[in-house]
Order: sequence, then C-alpha cells, then structure tokens
Amino acid sequence: MKRLIVTLALALLASPVYADPPPWAHDVKKTVTKDFDFEEVVVEVDGVKAGYRYDHGRRYDLLWERDPKALGLRHRLHAHEVTKVFPAERDPIVAPDALPAVADPLAVADLTPVVIDVNYFYTAQVAAAQGGEANMAAFAALTCELSNQTYANSGLGHITWRCLGPFKAAYADTTNLDDALAWMSAGGGGAADIAAKYVLTGADISHLVINSGGGSCGLGYINSGTGTALSTSDRTCVNSNLSGPHEMGHNMGFHHDPATVGCTTISPTSGVPYCNGSYNYGHSWPIGAPKWRSIMAYPGAGGTRITQISNPNVINNGFPTGIPNERDNARVAVARAPIVSQFRFSPGTFPVPRPPGQTGVLTGRTYVTIALSPDDLATFNGTLVITNYTVAFRRVSDGVVTDTVNCGKPQNGNCTIPLTVPGTVLYTATAAAIGPGGSSAGPPSGPFTKQLVTPAPAAPGKPTVH
Ligand SMILES: [Zn+2]
Repeated sequence: MKRLIVTLALALLASPVYADPPPWAHDVKKTVTKDFDFEEVVVEVDGVKAGYRYDHGRRYDLLWERDPKALGLRHRLHAHEVTKVFPAERDPIVAPDALPAVADPLAVADLTPVVIDVNYFYTAQVAAAQGGEANMAAFAALTCELSNQTYANSGLGHITWRCLGPFKAAYADTTNLDDALAWMSAGGGGAADIAAKYVLTGADISHLVINSGGGSCGLGYINSGTGTALSTSDRTCVNSNLSGPHEMGHNMGFHHDPATVGCTTISPTSGVPYCNGSYNYGHSWPIGAPKWRSIMAYPGAGGTRITQISNPNVINNGFPTGIPNERDNARVAVARAPIVSQFRFSPGTFPVPRPPGQTGVLTGRTYVTIALSPDDLATFNGTLVITNYTVAFRRVSDGVVTDTVNCGKPQNGNCTIPLTVPGTVLYTATAAAIGPGGSSAGPPSGPFTKQLVTPAPAAPGKPTVH
C-alpha cells in the first residue's frame, strides 16, 4: 500500500506522464541453468519464485510451497514432475484483421532490440489452483521469461517479452478455450476490460490463462493485427508445456509443423513434408529420429518440446533447428517483431514530440508550431498512435506553467494559445503527445515572448440599411 501511495503521488505530480516504474511492470529476477539436454528457468518477483525445468525429456514445475522443515513459515521452490501427456493446442484462428504474411522477411530484417508487452490475465480459479494471488506475479513473469529464453536460444535475443499485470479477469472459467478467446475478442464480455488495460499499460498483446481448457492447451489468433493480438491457454500448459510462448507465437505469425498444418507434400530439397513456398512453419528435429521439437510443433511431430523456435541457422545439440525456406519461424519473428511491438506504445516508449518550433502571432493570437512528423505516424496497423497534443507554457523567470493548451491534432502543426500575459515576459513551450498507449512530453522550445497584436480595424463599409 505504501508503494501504491508513492506511485499515485508521482503520477499526480507528473501528470499526464505515467509513474515510473509502473506498478504493472514488476521487477523480475531471472536465473537460467542450461546444459546439454537440460534447462532450468527460475524467476523471482517480490520475493516469490516460480520455475520451469526440462531434464532429458522430463519436465518439472518448480512451485513455491511452504517448507515443511521450517515450521511452515518459510517457502521453498519445489520440483514437481509433470507426468500428464499434454494435449495439443488448438488450430489457430485466422484473425479478422490479419495482416498479410510478410513477403520476404530477409529483405526487411531488422535486429534493433524490441520489447513486446503482454497484458497478462488470469482467472480466480487459476489463482486458487496456483496457491493464491501472491503467486500470480511470478507465474506470469515465468511465461514471458520462457518466451525470452526461447527467442534467445533461437538466435533472436533482440526480441524480448514483458508480461504486465498480471490482471485478474472476470471471466467465468467453467467451459473451454473457445469461450475464453471469445470473451477477450471484440463483442465479448471481456472486451471492455481488455481495452481498458491497453489504455493503462500500452501493451501490444493480451494473454488469458484459464483453468478450464476443455481438454486442449491453448488457442489464439494467427498473424494478428492490433485488434486480435489475443490468445488464451490452460493453466497446466501455459508454462509447463510452453503453451503461452506457443500461442503468442501464433500472434506473431508462426504456424505449426507442416504435417499438422496439412502440408504432406515431400520437399524435393529436404525430403520431408513441406508447405510449398512457405517458411513460417514449426519444426521437429532431428529428421527421422526426433528427440526434440520446437514450441510450435505439435506432439505428432515427435520428440519433446523445448525452448526453441525453428531457425535453420541455429544448431541445437548438433542438429539444425530448421530448414531454409521451409521451416523458419525465426524469419517471421525478425520481420514481425518490430510491427507487433508497436501495436501500442507503452509509457516510456511513447513517441516524444519534437520541441515546438517557430512561435509567432496571427490575428491577435500567439501560436506555436508543433512538429507532427515523424513523431506523429498517425496509425500503426489501424491504431491511432497520437490522438492529441497539449502545449504547456512555462515562465522562464520562475518556471511556473501559466497556460496548458489543448491543441487537438492540428493538421498544419500550429497550436494557438490564449494571450493571458502579453508583453515582454519570456516563455518556453513544451509539447506533449497523448495517445491510447500513454503520453510523453518533448524538450522545451527556445525562449520567446508572447505578443499581443491589436487586430486591424475592419475596413469601413457601406452603412447597412435596414
Ligand atoms: Zn498452435
């Protein structure tokens, strides 16, 4: 509660800039142990741990439990072997606002670091089954760290994921994944909450973990646009079976292994099934004697799923993890990550307007110009980035903001301000951009004086005759 009060105070002082760090972006400590055919990922959030372990084909949930040797007060991370046979995820749904598949990912390769923010939702049933609300932040953080681990292992360390929240969803959670995804989607019972949390955090995608998966591990839209960057997964699969990273991989544009997709034609070059002309499919390997498969490959592809996505340029335990031009999710990731990561802007990464430029007077009003480009990219995949500008006028002598003017979105870049204190007082102006993902203030302009111009008297006309 103390932290909350401090955060609110900061938010008020800096309004409309968001508090830093925002309460929905937890500090995550991560520990990774990786060796031949072994991997352990442990996260710690606010003193609570959660983890995943893969050990020579066996997998374990690392659960935060009371230590029986310490009179039940201390907690420990305890390994539980997962013995269930995971059901497959469901076939992904082609998003109504799906973007066209990237024609040539290599042509637009961009390795600039990007962060994909995920609004992470869970139900009351999930929290109860995981030992209470206190465990949920670590549970959620683990999902994104497993994505991070997967991308790092696959030569894509420049792409990172951050799970925000987590937020408790009012979803009833008694049926199946279809109902959960419908609840999140446009027209669904949770659509308003999904939208509200986007405004709060500026996240790019949303994921909902449920307790009643209805016998499947996950469901999501494929090659999503901003409105369908949604997926859901069963609590027992999201981390243990890497179904969270799998479903968010569909949002990214990845598909399953070719046989699962229905491509059974044998490739003349690789000698295994391929989808003619496609590169964006999951992969299992080694071919012929599979022991491992990527997060996007179905159980039918053989082997145990590990934290890899297909990439023919990455070798895992001596085997290439993809086939050029046939099984290469990494190419899709390189091309799509910059797009997905900009579905919305999170506080702190919201575009900063340039300093207001020229100031002057026009028909008795002082105006200031705001650079609308390149900060105002108008839309990213249909979502307006900047909806409004404000300009604050600060008196240079004492730093007091005397006027804050709502400029709307001036097409010509001019923002007219009221002349409350005309004369020789020096001012600086600072423009702030405001949008669905947050707001940000740019640097101040150079000093200037507001000017009062007496409008020229109207030209004498003929007297009006009534
Ligand atoms: Zn899938």
